[in-house]
Amino acid sequence: MNKIALIAHDNMKDDIVAFAKKHADFFKNYELVATGTTGQKIMDATGLNIHRYQSGPIGGDQQIGAEIATNNILAVFFLRDPLTAQPHEPDISALIRLADVHKIPIATNISTAELLVKALSL
Ligand code: PGA
Repeated sequence: MNKIALIAHDNMKDDIVAFAKKHADFFKNYELVATGTTGQKIMDATGLNIHRYQSGPIGGDQQIGAEIATNNILAVFFLRDPLTAQPHEPDISALIRLADVHKIPIATNISTAELLVKALSL
């Protein structure tokens, strides 16, 4: 239960990259996993080492859900786009549901993301 997962929908990718840059000293202490495109963008911008799963719409959310279900994930940073319909909405709901089932903290917007970093830094 030591990995941190990072996911952002397309309209939120700039935000998660800026967030990861700002908190690179925090994230470098953890094993990181991400959906494919999110992970690539963060790695390119920060040099952080990230295990990239498939892109979200073709299964990445489910892969991260499986990591949650097998008790590998400490926290999830998932910057969702609440204003755009996503083709993989069922997978997104499943991921969030599994976080709730396993009581894993999940930040779905930048404000809770900031709070989660603070909480994990205590
Ligand atoms: P992506 O997946 O990082 O591969 O774009 C995220 C998503 O849209 O669920």
